[in-house]
Amino acid sequence: MSQALVIVGNGMAAARLVEELTARAPGRYAISVVGEEPSLAYNRVLLSSLLAREIEDSDLELKPRSWWEERRVNLVCGRQANNIDVRQRIVRLRGGATLPYAKLVLATGSEPIRLPLPGADLAGVLTFRTRTDVAAMLLRAKARMRAVVIGGGLLGLEAAFGLKKAGAEVTVVHLMDRLMERQLDARSAGMLKSALEDLGIGVCLNAESAAVQGRRKVGGLRLADGRVLEADLIVMAAGIRPRAGLARLAALEVNRGIVVDDRLQTCAPDVYAIGECAEHRGVCYGLVEPAYEQARILTRHLAGETARYTGSLLATNLKVSGVGVFSAGDFQGAPGTEPILLTDAERGIYRKLVVKEDRLAGAVLLGDTADALWYLDLIRSRAPISAMRDGLVFGRAFCGAAAEVPDPLQAEAA
Ligand SMILES: Cc1cc2nc3c(=O)[nH]c(=O)nc-3n(C[C@H](O)[C@H](O)[C@H](O)COP(=O)(O)OP(=O)(O)OC[C@H]3O[C@@H](n4cnc5c(N)ncnc54)[C@H](O)[C@@H]3O)c2cc1C
Repeated sequence: MSQALVIVGNGMAAARLVEELTARAPGRYAISVVGEEPSLAYNRVLLSSLLAREIEDSDLELKPRSWWEERRVNLVCGRQANNIDVRQRIVRLRGGATLPYAKLVLATGSEPIRLPLPGADLAGVLTFRTRTDVAAMLLRAKARMRAVVIGGGLLGLEAAFGLKKAGAEVTVVHLMDRLMERQLDARSAGMLKSALEDLGIGVCLNAESAAVQGRRKVGGLRLADGRVLEADLIVMAAGIRPRAGLARLAALEVNRGIVVDDRLQTCAPDVYAIGECAEHRGVCYGLVEPAYEQARILTRHLAGETARYTGSLLATNLKVSGVGVFSAGDFQGAPGTEPILLTDAERGIYRKLVVKEDRLAGAVLLGDTADALWYLDLIRSRAPISAMRDGLVFGRAFCGAAAEVPDPLQAEAA
């Protein structure tokens, strides 16, 4: 007989887990998925493209309803799980229903951080996490509307680009001295700032937000240095926080995220966490690839195999048309590494490769990112680079036969 498996959260990690598990151990589990958002699981990564009007809302859907039905998944959409009883092995839903489980997976994702500024609750202060957030932005984003985006990381810049495309006058306000400081070095961040300014997006660095001004709705953002940026709309994209409240309430171990071991198991037996809500070896990931890798490892574990998750490599692409940005691995260059640099400021091209002991450890590409996946494969596979070192910084086409990279997954399977 199938065991009851309940997944809380109907996001990208949950959908991938169902896909992997129903393929690897068909019939072993009777799966229920509880999601508070009203729709089927969707591709959150594409929200930036939706905001930039490069795709339609229907393009977000990860799997059609029939896909879930074929796998006999009990989908509970538009309902929040608000309590877990790990002794009785029950999940309670808002409104009173309960779901018993033999195995429970928490895949509750993250929530955007709302800066506790005076005036932050005024109409016109939005965040950027869900389909509903994008709909609210698109509703307001009219020609000549003034928008301020707080946060010059990946999400903030993608929000700024989408709003700019909708005709708004956009300024990005960032606390740090450079954009995307977690992915870019100073040189590439400076070039990115110029590229965004060329698109007509204003950038204020070293700028601390102090208060949202306005009476009933937003009128502007006051900075700590006294400057006021007039605004009809403010988007807070100043970071995310793992959604761990449910786990905390159930007395599971939580630091920043829900603490899991190498099997993705929490401190409670048969309770697991994957995706952005999980904290593994002190790291909470804010990207989808680690969530997918965790789903793959947990699938093996749930299928009765031995598998361990040892962490993920971080790699990011900025989705702003015409401004290629890619960053992966150790892009800063820890002690013991050496950089290889190529810069063509005139063409807006910058490449920094970080080499450690004859292997590629990290990369930053700005302008031309056509070889991004190839560099990523090189980092992942840890393939020696000596045979292609002369051409490495110029890209794959300059490395001849040496450019073939062993597939890390096949190598792992072998
Ligand atoms: C605009 C945008 C652009 C992005 N771009 C990229 C990118 O380019 N590359 C990249 O790698 N990543 C990107 N990300 C991040 C990526 O979307 C996430 O890493 C990924 O969605 C994580 O999947 P998850 O399943 O852990 O969380 P989510 O996809 O957030 O899913 C969690 C779900 O759980 C639900 N939930 C939470 N608590 C409960 C509860 N108690 N009961 C019921 N349901 C609950 C939530 O409502 C949500 O639907 C982007 C994110 C955003 C917002």
